[in-house]
Parts: sequence; C-alpha cells; structure tokens
Amino acid sequence: MPDYKAPLRDIKFVMSELLDSEQHYANLNGGEDATPDMVDAIIAEGAKFCEQVLSPLNQVGDREGCTLTEDGVKTPTGFKEAYQQYVEGGWPSMTADPNYGGQGLPHSLGLVMSEMVGTCNWSFGMYPGLSHGCTNTIETHGTEEHKQTYLTKLISGEWTGTMCLTEPHCGSDLGTLRTKAEPNADGSYSITGTKIFISAGEHDMAENIVHVVLARLPGAPEGTKGISLFIVPKRLPNDDGSAGDRNTVSCGSLEHKMGIHGNATCVMNFDGAKGWLIGPENKGLNCMFTFMNTARIGTAIQGLGAAELGFQGSLAYAKDRLAMRSLSGPKNPDGPADPIIVHPDVRRMLLTQKVVAEGARALIYLTAQQADLVHSGKTEEERKAADEALGFLTPIAKAFLTEIGYEAANLGMQVFGGHGFITEWGMEQNVRDARIGMIYEGTTGIQALDLLGRKVLMTQGESLKGFTKQVHLFCKENADNEQLKEFIEPLAAINKEWGDLTMKVGMTAMKNREEVGAASVDYLMYSGYAVFAYLWARMAKVALDKMVEGTTEEMFYNAKVQSARFYFKRMLPRSKTHAETMLAGADSLMDMPEEAFAF
Ligand SMILES: Cc1cc2nc3c(=O)[nH]c(=O)nc-3n(C[C@H](O)[C@H](O)[C@H](O)COP(=O)(O)OP(=O)(O)OC[C@H]3O[C@@H](n4cnc5c(N)ncnc54)[C@H](O)[C@@H]3O)c2cc1C
Repeated sequence: MPDYKAPLRDIKFVMSELLDSEQHYANLNGGEDATPDMVDAIIAEGAKFCEQVLSPLNQVGDREGCTLTEDGVKTPTGFKEAYQQYVEGGWPSMTADPNYGGQGLPHSLGLVMSEMVGTCNWSFGMYPGLSHGCTNTIETHGTEEHKQTYLTKLISGEWTGTMCLTEPHCGSDLGTLRTKAEPNADGSYSITGTKIFISAGEHDMAENIVHVVLARLPGAPEGTKGISLFIVPKRLPNDDGSAGDRNTVSCGSLEHKMGIHGNATCVMNFDGAKGWLIGPENKGLNCMFTFMNTARIGTAIQGLGAAELGFQGSLAYAKDRLAMRSLSGPKNPDGPADPIIVHPDVRRMLLTQKVVAEGARALIYLTAQQADLVHSGKTEEERKAADEALGFLTPIAKAFLTEIGYEAANLGMQVFGGHGFITEWGMEQNVRDARIGMIYEGTTGIQALDLLGRKVLMTQGESLKGFTKQVHLFCKENADNEQLKEFIEPLAAINKEWGDLTMKVGMTAMKNREEVGAASVDYLMYSGYAVFAYLWARMAKVALDKMVEGTTEEMFYNAKVQSARFYFKRMLPRSKTHAETMLAGADSLMDMPEEAFAF
C-alpha cells in the first residue's frame, strides 16, 4: 500500500485559486471564522493525522476485517485508538452547530478533511462519515430534546451514527420496506424488523450508536408515502445524558464482502427496540434525504479517493520500474532498461488517474460550496439557487465520480503489471474497496434516473439551464482568449449539445416512458464529462493567467494546462459515444422477450 501523502498543493489550488474559498467563506453567515490562516492550519493538521495515523491502518483493516464476538463487533487493530485520537482532535465537531458543541465551520471545509481521511483509509472514514449524516438529519429534523440528547454526543464523537434503510428484499425500492413502528403509551415506539448491509451498525469504537431507521406506522399508506423516520439508540440514554441500558437492537451477523473490510457491514435486528419519531409521520423518506444527500457527496469522495490513491502508488512505481526501451530511444542509457513512465500507454494510464482525481476534487469542492450556501447563504435567493445547483450536481458527482474513480483505480493496478494483482502493493485493495461506490447510496442506475427524470425532465430542464448558463457565460467571457481557444471551443460545443440532447430525450420520453430509463446512464455519464470539461477549462484558465502574471511554480501550472489538454483530447471524446447511445432508443433494449434472454 502506498504511503498516502495529502495533495496539499492541489487542494489549495482548487479551494483558493479555482473556487476563491476566501471570498466564499467571507460571504457565508458565520463563515468569518474560516480565515485563510485557520483553513490552512486545519488542513495541515488533518493531513498529518491522515498520513501518520490512518494511512498505516488501511492495509491492517483489509487484512483483519471486523469480527463478531460475544462482546459485540471488534474493529481491526488500531481502529479504536485512531478513533479516540480523531475525537480528541475535535474532528467530529468541526462543521456542526455551535449550540450543541460544534465549531460551526463551513461544510466544504469538513469535506476536505473527509477527502483526506477517505483516501488514506476509506473503511475508517465511513464510521465518522455516517455519524456526520446522522448529525445533519437530527440537526435538521429533530426536536430540541432530540438535539440535547443525541446531537451533543454525536458532535463530540462519543457516540456514532448509522443509516438503516435497506431490508433483505429492498434497497433501491424503499417503498416496499416492512419494518414496523408501534406507538407506546409513553410517546416512544417499538421498532421491529430486519435491516441489512448497515455500515458501522455495530462496533467497539464508541460507547453508543444512534441508528436512524426507516419504518412504517400502523395503517400507514403503502409505498414511499407511508414511511416514517425514527431514532433508535443502541443504549437508551439516561436522564443525565449518559448511555444506559441496552436497547433490543443487535447485530445478527457481519457480511463477508469484496472490500472495505475494516468497516463493519451488519445485519441489524430490531426486536421491539425503543425508538422516537423524528420529523412528521409518513414523511420519513423526505427527511432521510438530508442523510442521503450528505452520504451521496460523501460517496462521491470515494471515487476521488480511489483515483488519488491509485495515482500516488502507480506514479511512484512507474518512475522506478524498468521495462524495455522507449520507442524513441533509451532514456536511461546507463540502466538495463527505461522506467516504464517513458511509455505512451503508461502515461495514458497515469494521466487518466491524475485528471480524474483533480477533476473530481474540483467537482466535489464546487458541490460542497453549494452545500455551504444552502446552509449559510445570506439571502433566500442565494440559498434557493444553491439548493437547485446542489440537487443537480449531486447525482452527477456521486455516480460519475465513483464510475470513473473505479476505472482509475483499475488503471492504478494495471500500471503495476502482475505486481498490481499481488496484495502487498495495495493496488488490488484499492480496486476492491472502490467497487462499492457505484452500488451503495443509490446505484449508478438510480442516480441516473434521479438526474434525468427528477432533476432535469421534471423541471423542464430548468436545473440544467442553471448550470449551462454559467458555462455559457464563462465561454463568452473567454471567447477572445487565444490561449484558451483549444478548451473554450469544445466546451461551448458540448454545452450547446447538452441542451439539444436533453430536448431530444425529453421528446422521445413523452411518447414512451421507457426512453428515460434507456437513456439515463448515458445521459448521466455525458453530463459528467460535460461538467468536467467546464472545470478543466476553468483550471486551465487559472493556470494560464498565473503563468502570464509570473510565478515561481511554472511546472505546477504548466502541468495543469497539460492535464487539461489531456482531458480535452483523450477523455472528453467519450461523450460522443454516450451522446449516440443515449439516442439509440429503448427498442434495442426492450424488444427482446424475457424468455429469449436465455438463448
Ligand atoms: C457494503 C455495503 C454497505 C451498505 N451500507 C448501507 C447502509 O449503511 N445503510 C443502508 O440502508 N444500506 C446500505 N447498503 C445497501 C445499499 O444502499 C443497497 O445495496 C443499494 O441501494 C442497492 O439496493 P439493493 O441491493 O436492494 O439492489 P436492488 O435495489 O435490488 O437493485 C438491483 C439492480 O437493479 C437495478 N435497479 C433497481 N431498480 C431499478 C430501476 N427502477 N431502474 C433501473 N435499475 C434499477 C439497480 O441499479 C441494481 O443494479 C450497503 C450495501 C453494501 C453492499
């Protein structure tokens, strides 16, 4: 496993130079604490913790996994101690509400820490990641009593959280879930049912676990309109706020799985467990969206992390490993062969990873700024616009980044040749760990339906227009910039084509609803490449401007422009295939009778 090195220069580039985080934070309600010095200090401290404490545990977590014992679930060696250090460092409280012990820093800053934690040890990062979603849900929908009882403990990190949606017969289709919630005389509810695949459902890192659970009240309407949301603690809180008696919720077994072994994936049995309603009756799924949206951006980070970690490992290897000679003559004449980084195909693999990781960072930080504005924007108008942009970008970030992040992780392994397949190097773990990103928090197929169906077609394209308008303005402002022409022209073209394709898909969908499902994943991937084109063009502009101004970091900025060029020449053309297949029609998918699949 490569030693993780936090990419601090690129983080700074995206935050400050691309997205002007200083101005952004100054414009937020309560953002004045996030001064540049404070931001730098937090990131530097977080980087140290990730490099020195969490990164060395990544392979340990994979090798040992979690175990279910009579005393509960044991996490891998070192996880518990690392979590303790994480809590002592104040990391769980960073972005939480100051009224309940939080530091009130912007969410986007928390995401930078999540990136570093998630890249160097994804399995570990899921424990605090789920607590964060649980915290947001209680902060948004909980009563004052819920907040005093649960939020303070979640924010301090003494307790952790989970999200309990999935049941054996349903994951994507939560409308059919069966877990029951019967009212008790004291205002609480008895929750009965089985939830599966619950990440961090049981472990030994914290004294209590707060489960946020979807269940049905007696007589609730069928489908998604009859689901309510409950808080079900592992230990019932005492009057003084401490964790008391065990509730009747327990881990029945741990899943054996392909990757993320250090994170406990639990079957959770609720046997009349005591719970409390959160949010209005039958509106549980709406409330749960707070959790799911946080988790979706969190999962997008998994794509970024997989690309970054694979890139760091494979870049070092490619400079070191000798094999054959460069096609244009020896580059290491004194050695027996040239380092593999001289070969065009190895460069293709390295640059793909680099461009995915850096583009993903730009997209996630951009999305995170929208989340900041939704939460702490100064005007209603600003909050509303950000909410729309966030809704539009979230499924793209989640699905596109986990798909191309997985591809990048595979390329990282490929650079190692046979050694990539061997456990010791950590590259095969990176591939195995990354694979789940395309499945949980709504599969790529489900994100694609959300994007094309709900976010784009149901708004008559308004949310898309909100984004393409920005791109159009950027293109217009830079139309006369000769140096940027190679980026602006194709960007303007795809921006226009995006709208045209949306119209065409929308028209065919009016005649046949199957067309939406048939086009959706291609539409989502196309949208991802289009968003990346915008971000890479903007990054190229920042870098070119810097070089015109004069800089001592010529190589850094030049590499940005060259990476942008690689993106436009060698990755953006993939959008053409997606454009063609999204219009290929549903017939070629739907005409075959079910029985004929077997022949
Ligand atoms: C390691 C791991 C951790 C997890 N952590 C959690 C957790 O913490 N909490 C939690 O609640 N759940 C968790 N999950 C569950 C996860 O979110 C679900 O597995 C996922 O949402 C998919 O649901 P499913 O497995 O039921 O697949 P299904 O819903 O049965 O889907 C099967 C396939 O059909 C496709 N499909 C289904 N419906 C449609 C449609 N309408 N159109 C097109 N395609 C469709 C899907 O895209 C998928 O490819 C976890 C799962 C794993 C493996």
